[in-house]
Amino acid sequence: MNLKILWMYHDLMDLYGDKGNIQVLKTRCEKRGIECTVDTCTIGEQRNPDDYDLFFLGGGADREQNLIQQDLFARRDAIETAMDHKTAFLLICGGYQLFGKYYKDQDGKMVDCLGFFDYFTEASDRDHRCIGNIAVKVHMDGQEFLAVGFENHGGQTRNVTTTFADVLSGHGNEYKSAKEGFLNDQVLATYMHGPLLPKNPKIADLVIQRALKKRHQDTELKPLDDTWEDEARHVMLQRLGVKEEEK
Ligand code: GLN
Repeated sequence: MNLKILWMYHDLMDLYGDKGNIQVLKTRCEKRGIECTVDTCTIGEQRNPDDYDLFFLGGGADREQNLIQQDLFARRDAIETAMDHKTAFLLICGGYQLFGKYYKDQDGKMVDCLGFFDYFTEASDRDHRCIGNIAVKVHMDGQEFLAVGFENHGGQTRNVTTTFADVLSGHGNEYKSAKEGFLNDQVLATYMHGPLLPKNPKIADLVIQRALKKRHQDTELKPLDDTWEDEARHVMLQRLGVKEEEK
């Protein structure tokens, strides 16, 4: 059994260590004897998203989002085919925004996005930028658990039909909002940098299971020793004053 990851715009969309998510997925697969191959793809390079089990796109400042927008747009049909064939998606922040209807930047410039989902993003004024550590209660694939991350986005994402988590501390989709991210049975899109996965191994394993589902039956993953990962999350939850009995 193997897992094939397509890492998009690795050189441009990689804010706050989003590359760490790739390392976590690779390590957690290999510890279970699952071969994990990662191909990068940046502007002008040819890769077929449907050849992969997981499509990963990290975050980026407005400048980088504008730099990749045309190239990403040109790939829309190929991405849609991959989505139709059950590829899993992990989208972080700017990557999350680009799969919605549009992104209106601070100068009021409208950036067309891929329009796969009905949510849209509008930049806030400086007083309402969403910055800081975040703690959430995740509702994903029949599981509920606490997770932590770091967010830094001016974009306020609205009209999100199915969200990823409830905000316990921090902002989420909008300034001081109660909800974070977008989730359906293939796509996890979130504002949580950090990177997201090292302190949240349950999310990492659910993403791996979603990706494996494209070419394999439902896969039980053998438990790993997550002592360090859980302790790192515990420290941040404590720092944010989030009680863990809310699991
Ligand atoms: N440029 C976008 C915003 O400011 C996304 C930022 C990010 O990816 N952290 O909302």
